Amino acid sequence: MADVQVHDKVFTPFITAGSIQARVAELGQAIDRDYAGKKPLLIGVLNGSVIFMADLLRHIGTACEIGFIRVSSYHGTESSGKVRNLMGLSDDIAGRDIIIVEDIIDTGDTAVYLIDELKKRQPASLRFATILFKPSALRQDVKPDYVGFEIPPAFVVGYGLDYDGLGRNLPDIYQLKS
Ligand code: IMP
Ligand code: MG
Repeated sequence: MADVQVHDKVFTPFITAGSIQARVAELGQAIDRDYAGKKPLLIGVLNGSVIFMADLLRHIGTACEIGFIRVSSYHGTESSGKVRNLMGLSDDIAGRDIIIVEDIIDTGDTAVYLIDELKKRQPASLRFATILFKPSALRQDVKPDYVGFEIPPAFVVGYGLDYDGLGRNLPDIYQLKS
């Protein structure tokens, strides 16, 4: 497989589409086992989760529903740092079995924010699925329940993940070339 250029940077093949598909199938089977007899609501985090969500769904046999949310963030002028805003979340998650679907957990800041916000709506249960997890970059106490691949703290694109808006459509995952 060849390197790809995204904007000004060169990325090198890292995880093939074939191994991603095999792993996503396993995650779907695990969800089927864990949610037998239930009707989970998978909530994807836009934009990065769309590819993973679409693939994961096709490997889930249990009746399930989907929805999407978006987290917008901007840096405030105060030293308090990041201010976030959650969009698209409806109130009807109370009493539901929720699975958050993300593209990647890096520092864990987004994951912790999402878990806190969703818990306020009192779901029956709340779990977290992510295709990629960078454990060494983590600075929050969060442990995803369904992980595709644990990876080193390199910057990656493809399979929904972008570099400045581009690269999401690549079927394989690529790593920034050093
Ligand atoms: P967090 O640091 O865990 O809060 O991750 C925040 C967001 O940064 C993720 O949802 C991704 O959109 C983005 N991100 C983190 N690492 C990468 C990467 O390697 N490639 C592309 N996006 C990333
Ligand atoms: Mg994201």
